This record gives sequence, C-alpha cells and structure tokens, in this order.
Amino acid sequence: MDKNVQRIRDIQYCGEMGGVVPDINHAATTTFLDPDDMDKVFRGEIQDHYLYSRHSNPTVNMFSKKLAAMENMPAAIGVASGMAAIACAVEQILIDGGHIVSSNTIYGGTYALFNNILTKRGIKVTFVNPSDVKAFEEAITPDTKLIYTESVSNPLLAISDLSSLGNLARKNGIKLVVDNTFTPLIITPAKYGADVVIHSCTKYLSGAGDLIGGAICSDKEFIDSLRDLNTGMAMLYGPVMDPRVAYILYSRLDHLHLRMKAHSNCTMYLVDKMKEEGVKGVIYPGLQEHPQHELMKEMVNVGYGFGGMITLDCGTMEKAKKLAQLLQEEQFGLFAVSLGFSRTLMSCPSASTSSEIPEDEQEKIGLKPGLIRFSIGFTGDDEVMANRFLTCYRQVCAE
Ligand SMILES: *Cc1c(COP(=O)(O)O)cnc(C)c1O
Repeated sequence: MDKNVQRIRDIQYCGEMGGVVPDINHAATTTFLDPDDMDKVFRGEIQDHYLYSRHSNPTVNMFSKKLAAMENMPAAIGVASGMAAIACAVEQILIDGGHIVSSNTIYGGTYALFNNILTKRGIKVTFVNPSDVKAFEEAITPDTKLIYTESVSNPLLAISDLSSLGNLARKNGIKLVVDNTFTPLIITPAKYGADVVIHSCTKYLSGAGDLIGGAICSDKEFIDSLRDLNTGMAMLYGPVMDPRVAYILYSRLDHLHLRMKAHSNCTMYLVDKMKEEGVKGVIYPGLQEHPQHELMKEMVNVGYGFGGMITLDCGTMEKAKKLAQLLQEEQFGLFAVSLGFSRTLMSCPSASTSSEIPEDEQEKIGLKPGLIRFSIGFTGDDEVMANRFLTCYRQVCAE
C-alpha cells in the first residue's frame, strides 16, 4: 500500500485510497487466507476478521462507530429499520422470556410489537404513564428484565425522567432501553444511565426522507450479543443495514447538529407566533406551559433547543384533517407520516401512526382524535411559514 495512504489511515480510517469519505464496502462475503482462521471465527476465537456481511460489514461498522460516539456509548450496530432495532434489542434482553415495564405513550409500531406479538409468546408487558416514575417502580416484578421508554414520547411529547428511570433500572439490576428518535443530540440518554439507546435512522439522522434505517447503541458486550452467530437476534433474524445506507447516514451525521438546531429554532419561532395569536392546545416541550418543561430543560444539551415536534389539538378529527389539508394546499407542509424531514410533515396520529393503540387506551393516555402532529422543517422563511399557518388556522379553527 502507498505509504501516504497508510499514514492517512493511521490518522483516521477513511477511503481505501485516502479519500476524505469512506469507501462503500459492497462485499457480501470475505476471503480467508488460511482455512483454519474461518473455523476460529466460528468458534469465537478470532474477533477482528470479517466473515459475512449479515454478521458485520466495514461500512455499517463505520457508521455505527460514529453514532456510538455521538450517543456517548461504547458501541452500536446499524440495522434495517427502527422497528428492527427495537425488536432485536428487546428480544435479545428477553431471550429467556420475562417482563417489560413500558411507557404507555410509545410509537404505535412498538406498542403493537409489545402488545400483539411479544405477549402472545409469553412475555408480559405492563404499560405505565411515562411521566410517573413511581408507576414504573411499582410495576417492576422479579421477572422484569427491562424498562422501555422514549426520551420524548410519540406523539404526545411527554418527557421521561431518564435519570430516575436509570437509577431504578440499576437498583433492580435491569436494563433501561430508550428510544431517542425524537431527540438526537438534544438529549443524550447515556448521560442518565440508559443501557440501550435506539434510533429510527429514517427520521432526523437521515433528514432527507429517502431511506429506512435503525440503530442500537449500547456497551460492547450487548452489541456483540446481537451479532452472536448462535444466539444473536440481529445475526439470526438478519435485518441488516445496507452498506449504501450506512454510507449515506455516516455522511449525514456530520451536519446533524446544524439540522437539529435549525429544526428547534424554526419550531420555537412558530410556537411563539402561535402563542401571540392565542392558538390553544399546542404541546411543545420548549413552552413554559409544558408540564415537564423544567425536566426537559435539565436534560437537554444546551444550544440544541427543544426539538422540532409539536402537537396541536384542533378539537375534532374533522377540523384536524381540514386544517392539515389546507396547510398542505398553502404549502406550509406535507400530509405524510414520519418526521425529521427538512420540510414540515403533518399527520393525525389517532387514526394513523398511533391507531395500533386501542381507542379506550388512547383516551386514557390523552391521545385525542383532534390532534395534529407536526414535524417542523427548516426550509422556507420562518415568518412566511408562520403566516401561512396562522392564516389557515384562522380559517378553520378560530371561530
Ligand atoms: C418511526 C419510529 C420508529 C420506527 O422506525 P422505522 O425506521 O420506521 O422502523 C420507532 N420509534 C419512533 C419514536 C419512531 O418515530
């Protein structure tokens, strides 16, 4: 190898020929020079030899390493989707069965996985109010293996007291698993004792609405267990991240901090304008009126703001849909599921992304049918966007 390339590699792993970005490693399988070495890899005696891309891929590993550093975690693994990350992480911890104490306001797909699949396989789940640490504590049994929550919940934007939940997990010798999809860089769950941090990379980490991906961050032992040849959920269910996707995500992590600040700033601007106008039913953790604003303030990494998610209660689903449709026509945003895109996305979660949660349960947790969930984008002029919103709002909701 060229001496200079070797030197560059020593400084920072990058492109094979010294490029400033990594090469994408497309290989499905890896050549062994000594046949005995292959057996050693299967016996676990050699750790650092690539084998097969479902087990480990250099490009996916590069992305994973960078994300782990961002989340203050020793290790990570990129997988095919956020749901793959959740399913693999949770089932790995529950490999011998057990009990989950989970927040009751979680992503609809996670709720469905827990409630409709895992419970049918003998795993018990207790759902509790994410703002109520005592409820988590009281739900823990000798069978409990993990506490599951989202830093900022989807779609109700309840804040989890991660520090208290971390202490609770440690006291009981169980794992705290945190879905940090809504707040990358804004909240660092590892600082508060999270053992496993999950991302849907489809959202803010991508930022461009053009890929599906997920990741699990944890200690090296847990990440190794996920890719264990005989018992690893990521290895044996096989939801790998494509190296091309890993490459894209690797690059986009470089400007994630700029994007998160832009999302937060644009959202705060809009929320302030809503407040001036007297818009009722706005939920945003950056508002003093948010019941856990102080807790959020304590947890956030200063300078990143309070995120880009808002919910607005329009009173009825009819009004919510009418407003969202008008907002789309007036080019305030797009009516689509998902979040973390550069442009504003809107949906009515009650009948869509949270429809997996039964109606009576929705009512109990305060998920009202008239809710619109906004993922505020940063394209367009703030003032123009705020005016578009207010004009539509006056037309539909202000009588
Ligand atoms: C979207 C989302 C998921 C699922 O991620 P996918 O990449 O769509 O599989 C999980 N948790 C939260 C909070 C989400 O918003």
